[in-house]
Amino acid sequence: MSMNSQGRPTSPSAPSAQPAIKTVSGSRGLQQREDLIFETGSTTKTGVDLPAPKGGMDRLGGVTRKKSVGLPGLSEPEAVRHYVRLSQQNYAIDLGLFPLGSCTMKHNPRLNEKVARMPGFADIHPLQPQSTVQGALELIDELATWLKTLTGMPAVAMSPKAGAHGEFCGMMAIRGALIARGEIATRTRVLVPASAHGTNPATAVQCGFKVDEIKADARGRVEMDDLKSKLEDSHDIAGIMLTNPNTCGLFETDIREIADLIHEAGGYFYCDGANFNAIVGRVRPGDLGVDAMHINLHKTFSTPHGGGGPGAGPTVLSEALADFAPVPFVVEEDGVFHLVEQRSGEGSDAFGRLCAFHGQMGMFTRALAYMLSHGADGLKQAAEDAVLNANYLQSRLKTVMTPAFDGYCMHEALFSDAFTAEGIETLDIAKAMIDEGYHPMTMYFPLVVHGAMLIEPTETESKAELDRFCESLLSIAEKARAGDQSLKSAPYLAPKRRLDETQAARKPELRWSEPDKIAAE
Ligand SMILES: *Cc1c(COP(=O)(O)O)cnc(C)c1O
Repeated sequence: MSMNSQGRPTSPSAPSAQPAIKTVSGSRGLQQREDLIFETGSTTKTGVDLPAPKGGMDRLGGVTRKKSVGLPGLSEPEAVRHYVRLSQQNYAIDLGLFPLGSCTMKHNPRLNEKVARMPGFADIHPLQPQSTVQGALELIDELATWLKTLTGMPAVAMSPKAGAHGEFCGMMAIRGALIARGEIATRTRVLVPASAHGTNPATAVQCGFKVDEIKADARGRVEMDDLKSKLEDSHDIAGIMLTNPNTCGLFETDIREIADLIHEAGGYFYCDGANFNAIVGRVRPGDLGVDAMHINLHKTFSTPHGGGGPGAGPTVLSEALADFAPVPFVVEEDGVFHLVEQRSGEGSDAFGRLCAFHGQMGMFTRALAYMLSHGADGLKQAAEDAVLNANYLQSRLKTVMTPAFDGYCMHEALFSDAFTAEGIETLDIAKAMIDEGYHPMTMYFPLVVHGAMLIEPTETESKAELDRFCESLLSIAEKARAGDQSLKSAPYLAPKRRLDETQAARKPELRWSEPDKIAAE
């Protein structure tokens, strides 16, 4: 080994045989061990120094707490370290490729963050007089215009706070329209394909409808004969909830015919727009006969999600449903923006407000910044690149893995577990990906494919990153094909190994008790 004049080695020595796996501290390398806050904190400690209260009147009647709550306190540096250490056990889009299918985990541009933090947007209050927040109202109005233009739809409800909330909004608008037609008592059946995201049937039921499942065909699309047979007696049809591109990552090629059949049956067409990222700038859902569709700003328009920020699910509506939109909405008159909070006319009592205030302002700001920085051509290119990246993955991965359906995919590639040896499951492959430093793909969804693996790379990954991902996943897939039993115990390198997920779901232990109490039980 060479040394400098202070005796410090200037080049690494040869690695010794086997590094010790167990450490005294419980940390591994630079990943710090972190215990529960109840174990590290103490009820006698606090990070803030408040002057003792001067007494004063007890305004809680007889319900003042008699004992301390017993919450653990930490000093400020301990509190900071606690959360930073936990965050380092997490996976994030800022760490690496996040292949969760259907979730569109794309990069969150920092320009959006900068704009959202501008005081004129970040420091305003929803109860401020409207004359003092004209810029914010204009921003909502401009974003609404972009959403209506991109979808070819005449109206949009901005307040839904997630995709599922947008579904609720759209289905409530359909309910409102059926009430106005005097048909809500008879039109109770909503068709939902077998491949649908779980939120679709849940929303339909939440809004008082019955779910009638339509089969998928061998091409992964709606089986048209099954759909037609369900429409033979159509007096009770309220509508259909269909995702396009669907959750198999495929464009529903019969979508125009489906829309016409539903409309002829007297129903409405709800489109789940969570996969809009694949078609922005190429297809306008309004041209396909859609009556309502939510747009996940946190998927298609890059606002952070998955722990990084709240969702936002504006819902576009057709002419037939526009009157049944919730309040509030923004209108412009002679350059002045107003929030309409009460409405008159046919749908005035459809369902009122969906939430307090006006929706996720911080996400609106980010989404509009994304749109303006990309421009119309850039948004179209993002969609095209998302589809190109998914097809690149599909063509590389299918050398070992089994594509669920023939042909090109849209923005996500779907595989079945047909290629795995007896005894090796999708779960084993997902767990082995954690050792390779990747968040697992979406697994066992959609339900129409056995052992499904749904991979969505998004347009924000480079070819080099896609290649690295493919090489990792292919090496795992080859082991799965060969029946390598080591996969059954993966992950080996994660802070936690395999957890008993069934037990955790069936017998969740959500309350912390002191260890001696647990021992005594
Ligand atoms: C993400 C998603 C939803 C639900 O959206 P949230 O914003 O998570 O509520 C609904 N349908 C599909 C197909 C999705 O991918």
